[in-house]
Amino acid sequence: MRFLIAFVAAAAAFSPLAVPAQKAPAQPPRAVMTLYDAPGMTRACDDGIKRAQADIRHMEAGKGAGAIFDEWNRLNIGIEDVVNTVYLLGSVSRDKAVRDAAEPCLQRYTTLQADLFQDEKLFARVKAAPPMNPHQAKLKKDLVEGFEDTGVALPPDKRKRAKEIFEKIEELRQAFDRNIRDDPTRVTFKPEELEGMPESYLKAHAPDAQGNIVLRLDYPSYIPFLQNAKREDARKRYYMAKLNEGGAQNLELLLRIFELRRELASLYGLPSFADYALRRKMVGSPEVVNKFLSDVKAAVTNLEVREIADLRTMKARELDLPSVGVQVSRWDVPYYSEKIRREQFKVDQEKLRKYFPTDKAVEYTFLVAQTLYGVKFNEVKVPVWHPDVRYFDVVDAKSGRFISGFYLDLFPREGKYNHAAAFPIRGVSRLAKRTPLVALVTNFDREGLNHDELETLMHEFGHVLHGVLSQADYNPQAGTSVKGDFVEAPSQMFEEWARREQPLDLFKKVCPDCPHLTAQQIQQLEAARRFGQGIRYARQWLYAAFDMALATDPKPPLAVWKSLESATPLGHVEGTSFPSSFSHIANNYAAGYYGYMWSEVIALDMLSAFKANMLDPAVGARYRDTILAQGGQVEEMDMVKRFLGREPSNEAFFQEITGRR
Ligand SMILES: [Zn+2]
Repeated sequence: MRFLIAFVAAAAAFSPLAVPAQKAPAQPPRAVMTLYDAPGMTRACDDGIKRAQADIRHMEAGKGAGAIFDEWNRLNIGIEDVVNTVYLLGSVSRDKAVRDAAEPCLQRYTTLQADLFQDEKLFARVKAAPPMNPHQAKLKKDLVEGFEDTGVALPPDKRKRAKEIFEKIEELRQAFDRNIRDDPTRVTFKPEELEGMPESYLKAHAPDAQGNIVLRLDYPSYIPFLQNAKREDARKRYYMAKLNEGGAQNLELLLRIFELRRELASLYGLPSFADYALRRKMVGSPEVVNKFLSDVKAAVTNLEVREIADLRTMKARELDLPSVGVQVSRWDVPYYSEKIRREQFKVDQEKLRKYFPTDKAVEYTFLVAQTLYGVKFNEVKVPVWHPDVRYFDVVDAKSGRFISGFYLDLFPREGKYNHAAAFPIRGVSRLAKRTPLVALVTNFDREGLNHDELETLMHEFGHVLHGVLSQADYNPQAGTSVKGDFVEAPSQMFEEWARREQPLDLFKKVCPDCPHLTAQQIQQLEAARRFGQGIRYARQWLYAAFDMALATDPKPPLAVWKSLESATPLGHVEGTSFPSSFSHIANNYAAGYYGYMWSEVIALDMLSAFKANMLDPAVGARYRDTILAQGGQVEEMDMVKRFLGREPSNEAFFQEITGRR
């Protein structure tokens, strides 16, 4: 569940241009986030909307194309300054009143964006603007598509309906996420039901006055439990609760959302939302996605069956039964997979925490990025939204020149967003001399990370780097403002630095006193990670296929899910409702979940450029210039080709998922 969070309103994105070389650039000032209280947030929202409306009226009055691209850049910056801060504080503020104040504000900005991209006068000005360079041409193309996708060219009745649809979807999306965030379900276990759980977990989940352990549905509680709890009935009980998170009400919401999306597509005369959404992605059409997904399925089907057979053997051994009659259930998969990793590959994730103390893991991640990209991260005291939060300047290693900044908010607390994600706060604009700012939000153990979590940290930091090292000319094309099926490529690529021996050796530098992984341990970690690839990618296929099914032809989600899941080797568990908590597709990963695997194709292909030297600053510099710096100002496929010096290939990906790499 690693992802990039960005508030996406109705539509939009822009692009860049070449700027004359500057002489002795002045040091740009550090920019930090405004920490609103609830009334302050509402005021900022009111003021922000009024200011944007005034700017839009002013832009409407402009003659011909004029300086429309620069005007748009400034408008976008003004909107982003409010929306991104509100979106982040709505997810991390300690004050419930602030979190609650965020929702109506985001709803108002959705309306503003829909109005903006339905504005005929602005559309005419953008269309009339002759691009002066390739970055402007890309900006113009993205803007025109944003207008078209929001309905500007539709007849008035359809345009009005499109706007209603955007607003309604935003309202339903918020309700969907709220039902997950506020799900009151607690699962109560007797102490003996925690048999097998590591000490750190028991310490973090102490018994209540009755001697029971009461668990919520958050990932840091749930995943280790499923991986370690010895008693099958306890695992099953937690699994059943988790797989109903969000409740039946969310099934209704999800259906309504996808029906509205289909209606939106039909306003354009398109057969499905999949057609509507995918024409703007790298893949271009549903046919390309469906072909890719069927290739993935064909590649992993047999591997999945073999891995499940391994789990069955392990379960039979533990229960001392003949494996013929033993059944592997879904709540067994994490537990017996971990057992195989521990026993066959000698990898005990829990024991790895002392190898990767949390603060040292952060330093390691920094050191890798600093080595590759010629930058330094300096911690600076600035106002933050919680005492745990830290802030760092990104500066040029040679000149010390300020480039950008980021926050780290690493540890869990009540009411905080409960996955791991990077939140853009300020996007770059070279033309506006605007520096980027990003927040990394995770829910890590304070003492140490296991290896999975080290990968998660590096994944999310990959998104952070995409934001803070971006040098796009125009703000709407800053950093991670790229196509949805490309955005996970830099982050998935950066995970690899948590896996290879050469970079991991740097851990000795950041923590001389930590135990260090030997070459053999790293090989075992890699072998352990490879166990379960069949199961993992078959599951990714299932999520993506389910998303495509709803985006092609919306039907009651549970029935669609049941029929797809029933056809898998482990089948569907009666009484579970996975779609109730599938927040990705209620949000902007709809008709886009395949993008994780599509991005991974590109990530693994780009990784090949590092060959044997994963710390080569020359390749790092080329990657920074051709990919990270560009944001969305160059077509994704062109960027990748420029970096690779050849056409991309999916070979590395298919080797990875079938374990043949
Ligand atoms: Zn991600």
